[in-house]
Amino acid sequence: MFNNLSEKLDKALHVLKGHGSITEVNVAETLKEVRRALLDADVNFKIAKDFTNTVKEKALGQNVLTTLQPGQLMVKLVKDELTELMGGDAAGINLSGKPSIILMSGLQGSGKTTFSGKLANYLKTKKTKKPLLVACDVYRPAAIDQLHIVGEQIKVDVFSDKGNTDPVAIAEAGVAFAKENGHNVVIIDTAGRLAVDEAMMTEIANIHKAIEPQETLFVVDSMTGQDAVNTAKAFNDILNFDGVILTKLDGDTRGGAAISIKSVVNKPIKFIGTGEKMEAIDVFYPSRMADRILG
Ligand code: GDP
Repeated sequence: MFNNLSEKLDKALHVLKGHGSITEVNVAETLKEVRRALLDADVNFKIAKDFTNTVKEKALGQNVLTTLQPGQLMVKLVKDELTELMGGDAAGINLSGKPSIILMSGLQGSGKTTFSGKLANYLKTKKTKKPLLVACDVYRPAAIDQLHIVGEQIKVDVFSDKGNTDPVAIAEAGVAFAKENGHNVVIIDTAGRLAVDEAMMTEIANIHKAIEPQETLFVVDSMTGQDAVNTAKAFNDILNFDGVILTKLDGDTRGGAAISIKSVVNKPIKFIGTGEKMEAIDVFYPSRMADRILG
């Protein structure tokens, strides 16, 4: 994960890690390299610039050059700032509803259906919940079939209504079904399109308004880099969602989305998808991710 970025940051911090005498020039050079590594990883220019400025200010504030191990302190400052940028503490999901309703949003192909299954499986096994999956993609019958296949695989019930073309009605019927059948979590998989468009936004906004979910999650493919951040912004403007799910982190992603998204929409990344299998889901811990990136 993020091998390229890890390598570049390691190289950037190499001089400082090598102890020796550290000068102001070393620090400035290092931060320039750190910024370059972030830009190469597809982090937005302003975020990368603010990042290195903050680290620089902290380094000056802590008189980094006069401390015993200035190199290590610099590495720590970079790691702490990276953690902060990605969200500080890990954020949980709200399961207080009766039933708890979780609405999935995102573009087509982002991994919504796969993640809906993964989350249902996670909640069933780790939190001993009884989830229900609801198929609200009324445009692609294959998407409904896909959710049924996922449900069978993880042994979670799936609610669908193939002839119905009204996703709001299906979502409401799904919630009613959950109440009648003792499901305490309802995960609603919605239709996405290939790009942000008004019809999709109106539809998801209507579902959101009708079912009042405790959690609205925005699912995004991390491989799409800067686009991931722009799409997140568009969905957040409409839905004011609660958290982000970054999928396909197992792929050849440069990592820019993971690093930038929190500071653009000010919503935490809650889970990551790391593969096609139902078990390939992880809670997102910013500090662990920063450790991983910085090796
Ligand atoms: P949806 O259109 O948003 O519902 O997206 P899907 O759930 O159908 O996923 C689109 C494709 O991405 C499928 O081929 C999935 O198997 C794949 N996919 C989803 N999540 C991940 C992931 O975390 N890693 C990888 N490698 N593939 C994923």
